Amino acid sequence: MALERTFSIIKPDATARNITGHINAMIEDSGLCIVAQKRIHMSEEQARGFYAVHADRPFYNDLVAFMTSGPVVVQVLEGENAIMAYRTVMGATDPEQADAGTIRKVHAENIERNSVHGSDASETAVSEIKFFFSDDEIVG
Ligand code: GDP
Repeated sequence: MALERTFSIIKPDATARNITGHINAMIEDSGLCIVAQKRIHMSEEQARGFYAVHADRPFYNDLVAFMTSGPVVVQVLEGENAIMAYRTVMGATDPEQADAGTIRKVHAENIERNSVHGSDASETAVSEIKFFFSDDEIVG
């Protein structure tokens, strides 16, 4: 087992419904610790850069519009095997495919408005954390 950090976003569909506290409770109930957190309004440039890997996908422009449509909460989560642990807590991208009790099964509206983002590998976790946080903002 390894102590890891992962990057999380509580997306605009969730901030719009005022359920960030519910989602944080699900994160903390899983054993993960929120070691940095801030509420921001992502710029179009940030959203395009953050999701650049999806630039060729048909849903890219919709995704950028969604992610800039309202506030988000960006977070750093810490815990044992945090990257995979958080992916498990989030559930599948499409809430219809997500396991019972996962954040996306409980809260997501559809495959795009799916309430949360979590890094998918250690390299992306490092780069995504750096994208939004400086070292002194993270208090483990
Ligand atoms: P994730 O790692 O589970 O978030 O999934 P991906 O990296 O594949 O996709 C990034 C985000 O793009 C997802 O969380 C969704 O918000 C959105 N997305 C993924 N697939 C689709 C799709 O087929 N249609 C739409 N509209 N959005 C999608």
